Amino acid sequence: MSHDAYTRLLHAALGREEGSPSAPSIELASARLLTGDTAASPYAYLRLGNPTWEALERALGVLEDADALVFASGQAASFAVMLALGASGKRFVVPHDGYYGTRKVAGMLGPFGVETVPVDLADLDAVRAVMAPGRSVLWAESPTNPSLRVLDLVALAQIATEAGAPFVVDNTTATAALQRPLDLGATVTVTSLTKSTSGHADVVLGSVATRDPVLRDALRMWRAQAGSIAGPFEAWLAHRGVLTLPLRIARQSESAEALARHLARHPRIRRVRHPALEISTLEIARRQMPNGFGPLLSFELDGDAEATERVLAAAKIFRCATSFGGVESTWERRARWASETAPESLVRVSVGLEAVADLIADVDQALKVVSQG
Ligand SMILES: *Cc1c(COP(=O)(O)O)cnc(C)c1O
Repeated sequence: MSHDAYTRLLHAALGREEGSPSAPSIELASARLLTGDTAASPYAYLRLGNPTWEALERALGVLEDADALVFASGQAASFAVMLALGASGKRFVVPHDGYYGTRKVAGMLGPFGVETVPVDLADLDAVRAVMAPGRSVLWAESPTNPSLRVLDLVALAQIATEAGAPFVVDNTTATAALQRPLDLGATVTVTSLTKSTSGHADVVLGSVATRDPVLRDALRMWRAQAGSIAGPFEAWLAHRGVLTLPLRIARQSESAEALARHLARHPRIRRVRHPALEISTLEIARRQMPNGFGPLLSFELDGDAEATERVLAAAKIFRCATSFGGVESTWERRARWASETAPESLVRVSVGLEAVADLIADVDQALKVVSQG
């Protein structure tokens, strides 16, 4: 009998033997007592392996039908993938938009002989044109953060295959509960668990998932030797969070879509970005994310940065903070970050678990500060 994926997620790290703990527990010890051969214990020293990470990794592995590895942050996970796949002479083809930290850390490998080429991943001919056969890595993100553009991952996987390139997908915005890039042709996925996956805005953590055992072992080696490991307490918190991810993200997806549709009709909003409102990519979005589009939407106010900040300050439920995917709703004007390329009045909204009617009413009353006079 094969159980439903959510059932397996809940039970992935639990034992059934007499005396087993009723819930995942934390092991904080930096080493275990061990005489003689250290190969006998994977837990001889905390940097090399820890049962608390492994419990989280088993749960994440269920979500993607793959081997998952946990890292100190999403950036640490991305960086480990770059180190495992990169070498002097390699070319990283990366999104020209999307999470700026990815371009930033890839660019920092320049002095080590790795070339980074940003490209619009929606322009498949442009992507094909910049792939150097046999020495490229294709890196995608969909939906993109913060523009929420949906990219055709199957078509991009095909281009990567033709060029003999590994295909990396940053799956942070959708999460493995809504989108499974490894099923669409990705070699490896990267997820910032900091966002929706842990879901309570109280940890910084990242993960990778792959079905390639050679790449998995290389990533494990980079983690153990470069030391970008998760703290056991953070891993335990993220594990606790991921057990409710499918439920949380289903409600957030519904509320975010309802709010996006509402805002699209508002006279002071120039543009709303949400996968459900983008007709040109709707079919791809539905195919890649059949169960919802996640907690994010972005809107551009018909106004300048100052007017936008006034709207944000007028809210009574939405709070101004970066990151996303928590249980409480937050928003921010992205261009306040110096390295961000988003328009000055673009607000990224992360919809929480509050009643959607309250959220819609809150945004409406906040928008009044720019609608009157
Ligand atoms: C936040 C984020 C990251 C980086 O993750 P950290 O946990 O902050 O290091 C990477 N990719 C995307 C799409 C993100 O939103």
